[in-house]
Amino acid sequence: MSELTEKVEHTKGHVRTAYHTLHTYQKELRDRRAEEFAAAKGCLRCRGRGWVVTWDTLDSLSGCYAEYGGCPDAEVNAEAHGPDAPVDHSKENKYDRLRGFKVEVVQTDVERDTLAKLQQAVDDAKNQEKYAIAAATPKRGRIVKVVKGRKVRKGTEGEVFWVGEDRFRPYSQRVGFKTDAGDKHFTAAGNVEVI
Ligand SMILES: [Zn+2]
Repeated sequence: MSELTEKVEHTKGHVRTAYHTLHTYQKELRDRRAEEFAAAKGCLRCRGRGWVVTWDTLDSLSGCYAEYGGCPDAEVNAEAHGPDAPVDHSKENKYDRLRGFKVEVVQTDVERDTLAKLQQAVDDAKNQEKYAIAAATPKRGRIVKVVKGRKVRKGTEGEVFWVGEDRFRPYSQRVGFKTDAGDKHFTAAGNVEVI
């Protein structure tokens, strides 16, 4: 594997790690909100919304025909239904969205900052990956080495003089390169590595 190809793999690893860290934190925030809601003894039936879905048709997955009513537990559990009643901010479902109910998974400045940093880390890693891929992509003037395929001997090196669409395989590219000895070869771009 060439250094440039290794760099691509390396940056892909960073992207995966950054996403994983972000998703882990997002899950942690949802868990925190759920714990807070449980600790505050919120209403589990309406999740503190004060309303519940009374009917929905399976004909529409979006839930746009759903009908709503007041929470049946509102009277027996009045404490969990006042103006300052605990609200479950751990999850936003389609009915919340349809009714304009805004779930605030992020609630503190520290959480907001942490989340922004983790999101930035994902963006940075993706940029690095993009640069690495660009640097490792065959282009006119770059030196490539054959690492795959049968028609051109593996290990053959040369300077790219042409890159173009593969007429027989849509979305694939081919490269033409010339060895030091002056031999010209054509092969799928995926068969070479920029060195
Ligand atoms: Zn309720």
